Amino acid sequence: MENLRELELRIEQYEQENKELKLRLAELNDFVENASLPLHWVNAEGIIIWANQAEFVSLGYKREEYIGFPISNFHADQEVITDILYRLKNNQTLLNYPARLLCKDGTIKHVLINSSVLWKDGEFIHTRCFTRDITLLIQEQEKKADLIYDLEQSETKLKIAIESTNLGIWEWNPKTNDLYWSEESRHVFGYPAEEKITFDTFIELIHPEDRSLVLEALRGAGEHGSDGQNYVIYRIHRFNDNGLRWIKAQWKLSFKTDRYASLLIGTILDITDVKYSEERSAKLAAIIGSSNDAVISKTLNGIITSWNDSAERTFGYSAEEIIGHPILKLIPPDRVEEEIQILSRLSKGERVDHFETKRVTKNGNLIDVSLTISPIKDAEGKIIGLSKIARDITEKKQEEQRKNDFVAMVSHELKTPLTALTGYLQLLTMRAKKAEDDFGIKALIRAEAQTKKMVAMIHDFLSLARMEEGKIQIQRELFELHHLIVGIAEDAKFLTSQHTIKSFGCEGVVLYADKDKIGQVLMNLISNAIKYSPAGGLITLGCEQLDGKIKIYVSDEGIGISPADQKRLFERFYRVNNSGIKTVPGFGIGLYLVSEILSHHGSEIKVESEENAGSVFSFYLETVTRQ
Ligand code: ADP
Repeated sequence: MENLRELELRIEQYEQENKELKLRLAELNDFVENASLPLHWVNAEGIIIWANQAEFVSLGYKREEYIGFPISNFHADQEVITDILYRLKNNQTLLNYPARLLCKDGTIKHVLINSSVLWKDGEFIHTRCFTRDITLLIQEQEKKADLIYDLEQSETKLKIAIESTNLGIWEWNPKTNDLYWSEESRHVFGYPAEEKITFDTFIELIHPEDRSLVLEALRGAGEHGSDGQNYVIYRIHRFNDNGLRWIKAQWKLSFKTDRYASLLIGTILDITDVKYSEERSAKLAAIIGSSNDAVISKTLNGIITSWNDSAERTFGYSAEEIIGHPILKLIPPDRVEEEIQILSRLSKGERVDHFETKRVTKNGNLIDVSLTISPIKDAEGKIIGLSKIARDITEKKQEEQRKNDFVAMVSHELKTPLTALTGYLQLLTMRAKKAEDDFGIKALIRAEAQTKKMVAMIHDFLSLARMEEGKIQIQRELFELHHLIVGIAEDAKFLTSQHTIKSFGCEGVVLYADKDKIGQVLMNLISNAIKYSPAGGLITLGCEQLDGKIKIYVSDEGIGISPADQKRLFERFYRVNNSGIKTVPGFGIGLYLVSEILSHHGSEIKVESEENAGSVFSFYLETVTRQ
């Protein structure tokens, strides 16, 4: 009985103990289940067999999406999970092993894995693995790395900027006077790299007139901080070559730890070139401002960008009114084409000199202007705009018109008495021939030749006046060139006794041209050949017949023409400035007429000449083939 009671008591006690054990186990389960650290178990096949609530919360999966699946599905790096499983199977314990887990929402979680294996009788039961989330930490680190990278980048950029601008860096301590110069600062001052720089040496290098300016500015900055002036421009004499340079120094006050340990940190830049170009621009602006000519600049597409006082006087618009507007405002509608042609010449880099045209003013008046237009190029030689100098030549033009009218009138009045004079001379010659008066014949023939010369000159004046007014008319006819040439050569012979005049090669050529004007061309060329061969010699009036064309030339053995003069010979009123021919009479219009008459025939006058070796003037005309 006693034994039974004892047994009952023992059973009771056992049950009690069992109950407590179960309670503790439940508590433990509860603790593990609800632990804040994510936990999971993986079996020998790598399948997740259990995980706690924290694990699901951390990765975002539901139980049914996680339990029963291979752990490798939830790792971002397959080689990492393979390594983890390998180590665990080989009975290693993992401490803070870094890994990246895949969350349900597609994000990645950085974790540290701590894991060991539960073995029973040498058999792998399952892993016990808890993870610590270090995503925030990693993100912080990445941010820090990015920041460091950005900082390094800005530092590199700053370095490149400093190097490319040739900025020199300096530091100056106003309390101790310690001065530091970067390599480029030394370079600007021509100061040797090995030599120590002191504040006093620096001041000595400053131009004496600018020293106090610099000292005041620097001391002021050192005392009052960066609220006041923060730059100064001064001159220096370079240490190595004493060369004068302009410097711009800028600074910022920097406090190292307290107010008393402040430093001025700054830059210096050699601005000599800028200074000089500023001076040059100021001088140019003054010249342009005071010029009597209108000076205008415009972009390539014709927008006005600058306008001086004279432009305002000439065209009536103020700078404010016209800058930014198209140049077309100044061009009469019937001359717009002309501007396009000018632009095409300029875009080839050519200059347009003394181009006479008409422009329209603000109040609608047409004025005569002479334009000189040149391209504006940038440092690389690219055309970026155009500069236009316009001179108002309205008065000059009116004066010319009056002169032309006068010349035309005088020439016309002179022609009538000269025609009568020639007629009487011819009559007298006939009578002298009848009377066999040899002296009379010679004298009268000479008188007739001189009269013809005068007629030719008056003819030239009239032609010039007509040409100026654009009234020249070409009256073409068919004629035998040979007859014209022989007649002119004969007439010319009466003008000189010193020269031999020959004509050849023109037989059988028929031209369809203005006979009088071609005669005028040849007469001008021959009388020049006579005038400019003071020592005499051979003058040839020749033709070279080509296919459908004829080359007509006049050659002499005279004083010749320099290459520079050859270029300007055909300009109106141009005469060579040569002391040897100062006394030779002339007006500088003969060759201008020659070139104008020929251009109206679609031809061009050419000159080949060498000083003191004679000249050849030639041109081509189309010939007519006889049926
Ligand atoms: P001009 O009335 O002065 O002769 P032109 O127009 O006929 O005017 O000629 C212009 C200039 O060209 C002359 O002043 C002269 O210097 C030069 N010239 C013309 N023809 C010749 C020539 N055959 N030989 C040398 N110089 C010439």
